[in-house]
Amino acid sequence: FAAHQFKNEPLTDFSRGQARDDMRRALQDVQAQFGQDYPLVINGKATTTRGNIVVRNPSKKSQTLGTVNAATPDLAAQAIDSAKRAWPQWRKLPVGHRAEYLELMAAEMRNRRFELAAWMVYECGKPWKEADGDVAEAIDFCMYYALAMRDLTHALTCDYPGEENQTYYRSRGVTVVIAPWNFPLAILTGMVAAALVTGNTVVMKPAEQSSIIALKLFNIARDSGLPTGVLNYLPGNGEEVGPALVRHPDVEIIAFTGSRAVGLEINRLAAEPVPGQVSVKRVIAEMGGKNAIIVDNDADLDDAVQGVVQSAFGYAGQKCSACSRVIVLSEVHDIFLERLKAACESLVVGPAEDPGCDFGPVIDQEAQTRLHDYIAIGKEECQTIVAGDVGKLAKEGFFVGPHVFANVEPESRLGQTELFGPVLSVMKARHLEHALQVANSTPYSLTGGIYSRSPKNLQRAREEFQVGNLYLNRGITGAIVQRHPFGGYRMSGIGTKAGGPDYLLQFLLPVSICENT
Ligand code: GLU
Repeated sequence: FAAHQFKNEPLTDFSRGQARDDMRRALQDVQAQFGQDYPLVINGKATTTRGNIVVRNPSKKSQTLGTVNAATPDLAAQAIDSAKRAWPQWRKLPVGHRAEYLELMAAEMRNRRFELAAWMVYECGKPWKEADGDVAEAIDFCMYYALAMRDLTHALTCDYPGEENQTYYRSRGVTVVIAPWNFPLAILTGMVAAALVTGNTVVMKPAEQSSIIALKLFNIARDSGLPTGVLNYLPGNGEEVGPALVRHPDVEIIAFTGSRAVGLEINRLAAEPVPGQVSVKRVIAEMGGKNAIIVDNDADLDDAVQGVVQSAFGYAGQKCSACSRVIVLSEVHDIFLERLKAACESLVVGPAEDPGCDFGPVIDQEAQTRLHDYIAIGKEECQTIVAGDVGKLAKEGFFVGPHVFANVEPESRLGQTELFGPVLSVMKARHLEHALQVANSTPYSLTGGIYSRSPKNLQRAREEFQVGNLYLNRGITGAIVQRHPFGGYRMSGIGTKAGGPDYLLQFLLPVSICENT
């Protein structure tokens, strides 16, 4: 298998002075580019509109990064038309040729690694390390899918006396990619790269909050020589252009990552045929999680505290994989809580551009307000263990300090709602069975973890923990391409695994040909 040659892109070691200098320089260079106006790109043509998205630095809300032109439903239809016209040529290219485009894109991302990370620091409030990991994952997706697609080109043959049989894969057609802001380069690149390498053409609709980094990806693809119209850049307001994209009769695939509410709405809209539509649309949706870590009575508490803190507060909890519930067995509950509190109190919250910060701001005002509302509920209904104050930062940007609540009822609002921020609920369990029952008591099934020294209990978690990605004795975020194919089921998604061998199949049509000989 070609995919066996795959190697993950190494992360940057920011303890090296050179790496820190490179990153600082990139931050300065990017800052010097603030204030530009960015057009849409449809069929290779830059297009401006009257609607604008003003992109702000969430760490410093007075700082405007730029303005992005916002698409209208009419322009969405034009972008789909452009992708439709580019498809017949693109699908005919040999797979190796399409895979090479992905490899060229990866090479360019490697060259521009610090610049891309710097844009994410400013645009999405990602701390250095997380932004660097985002670029590395984007490179991984390109390299991995390029190899995985080569593996899929061997037609499956099954000959029989008197007939020759082959099954092989064909591309489907126009793909709409609707991407989130929390992995603004990696997840967008993953969906786009998968669609392209499988021979589909793409209309790329980034999240409003991360439209500039998405344009960087578009430009990288264009500079790799991608034929005109194969990829179209369509930033815009989701509510305005989302339905126009999803309902368009010429769309064959919708690849989405984001919230449950939006994913379900896309699924519903896509299911309803419209005049002129000839296919049942394929929806690929990765949605939320309300992920839990179980801490067993015999767990190594130092490891558990560290893993929980990292998983709950990395990127301010804004990962669908983030830990938002810790279910602690009763014998160690109090001592765990005490240590967790101490660890949270040493977290440094600050502007993402500051290399020393553990976590930065949340993405925008809306997120900040929503989190403050849930924090108020937590303070009222539960025991407050940590209520991180951000002091003066509150005026500067969209900061929310780390919050930990104990005695959270599993069925309560705090216990069930995906908050997507630095708010962690602690629950006490009588025994492992109870802990697993609580862990499985939300409609989500994305990530989960357990800290335990008991092989029997770890085995039980393997069998009974209802999640797509289970982690034993480690944190539950940071899935790595190929090593940890990522994705959940139930209300967390359609069961697809990004960065795994099955992912590309969803973008393809299997066709069987039988010849009478
Ligand atoms: N793949 C990421 C992780 O394992 C999470 C992706 C997401 O938040 O959508 O942490």
